[in-house]
Amino acid sequence: MNVNLAEFRLWGIDVKVHWSFVLVLAFGAFVYGAGPAGWVTGSLYGVLTILLLFVCVTLHEYGHALAARRFGIGTRSILLLPIGGVANLERIPEKPGQEIVIVAAGPLVNVVLAILLLPVALMVGDGVGVFNFNAMGASIQNPGFFNLLVFLISTNILLALFNLLPAFPLDGGRLLRALLAYTMPYVRATQTAVAVGRLLAVMMAIFGIFSGAIGLLLIAFFVYVGGSAELEAVSSRAVLRQFRAREALTHNAVTLYTSERLERVMELIMNSYQTDYPVRDLAGKFVGVLTRSRLINALRESGPETRVVDAMMPASAIPHCSPDADLASVWEQMSQSGCRVVAIVDHGDVLGIITSDDISEVFQVMGAAMANRSQSPTTSSEPTGTGDYA
Ligand SMILES: [Zn+2]
Repeated sequence: MNVNLAEFRLWGIDVKVHWSFVLVLAFGAFVYGAGPAGWVTGSLYGVLTILLLFVCVTLHEYGHALAARRFGIGTRSILLLPIGGVANLERIPEKPGQEIVIVAAGPLVNVVLAILLLPVALMVGDGVGVFNFNAMGASIQNPGFFNLLVFLISTNILLALFNLLPAFPLDGGRLLRALLAYTMPYVRATQTAVAVGRLLAVMMAIFGIFSGAIGLLLIAFFVYVGGSAELEAVSSRAVLRQFRAREALTHNAVTLYTSERLERVMELIMNSYQTDYPVRDLAGKFVGVLTRSRLINALRESGPETRVVDAMMPASAIPHCSPDADLASVWEQMSQSGCRVVAIVDHGDVLGIITSDDISEVFQVMGAAMANRSQSPTTSSEPTGTGDYA
C-alpha cells in the first residue's frame, strides 16, 4: 500500500509526503477559514501558509542531507509528516565533528531563511509590526503578504530553537551526544544524551497534561521512543564492532556447484542448519549464492530439476567485504545494499559468505554476554540501525 500523498526528487534525493499531510492542510484551512477573511479566502490562505511552512521544514531536512553528502553519506529519503520532516541518512557519522556539522546544518537553514526574509518584511511593513508580537498574534490570520512574512520569520526561528532542544530524535539531542563524545565513549555519550532527553520528555508531558497542549504530549512521546531507538542502534553497533568478518565466517559451510540440481539442496537443508549456500563453478571460482528465498522461489516456479546456476544470486549482485572489516560495517553494507548476503573477499579470493542470520546470531550471543557484564545496554534480539534526522 502506498501511504504517500506525493513523491518527488530534488537535488538527487527522494522526498515523500505522507498521506496524513492532508490532515494538516485541512487543519490550516479550518483555522484560517474561521478567521476574519471569511471561509473561501481564509482557507485558501491557510493552505498556502501550511505549504510554505513545510517548504521551510523540507529545506531544513535538505540542510542535513546536503551536509551529510559532503562526508560521503547518502540520504535514502526525506519524509514529510504532519509533525515535521525526517531525513533518513544511510548511516550516522561517528566522528563527533562530522555529526555536529550535519546536525547544525538543519537549524542553520531556518536561521538563514529568517535572516533573508526579515529585510523583505521590514520593507513591506515599513518597519512596523515585525517585532510587535501582540499585534502579530491578532493579525496572523489576516491574509496578506506582510503577515505571511512575519509568520514565516517567526516559525523559522521557532523551528530552529525547537529542534535544538537537547532530546533525541531532535537535532539538539544529537548535538549534545556529539559534544559529550569528545570526553567519553560513544555509547556512554549516547546514554547520557538519551537520559537528558527523557527528563525533558517527562517535563514536556507533565506540562502538556496541565496546559492541555496535546501536541506537546505527542512530542514527549516521540522523544521518549526516539531516544530508545537511538540507544539500541548505537549499542548494536558497539557490540558488532568488536568482531571481524573473518570470525563470523562458517568454516565448514557446504558449497554447491553450478551444475547441481535443487533436489540435492533440498536434501542438504533437511540435514543441516545452513540456509544459504555459496556456489562455485567446476574450476572452483565463486560465482554466486543460493539463498533460502531464491531456492524457494525456484522450487515453486521451475521445480527440483532446476540447476543451481539458474536459481542462484549471481556474484555480481553481491556486495564484497574484506575479512578485516568489522561486523558493524558489514551489517551497514547489507542494509545499504538491501542484500542480506555479503561475500568476504581477500585479495580476489572469496573466503566465504556472511548472511544477516550469521550477524544476528553473533549479535544475540555476544550481546547477551556483554549485557551480563553490563558493557552494553542493548536489549534487542536483532541489531538495529537508525539514521533519522528530525
Ligand atoms: Zn533537523
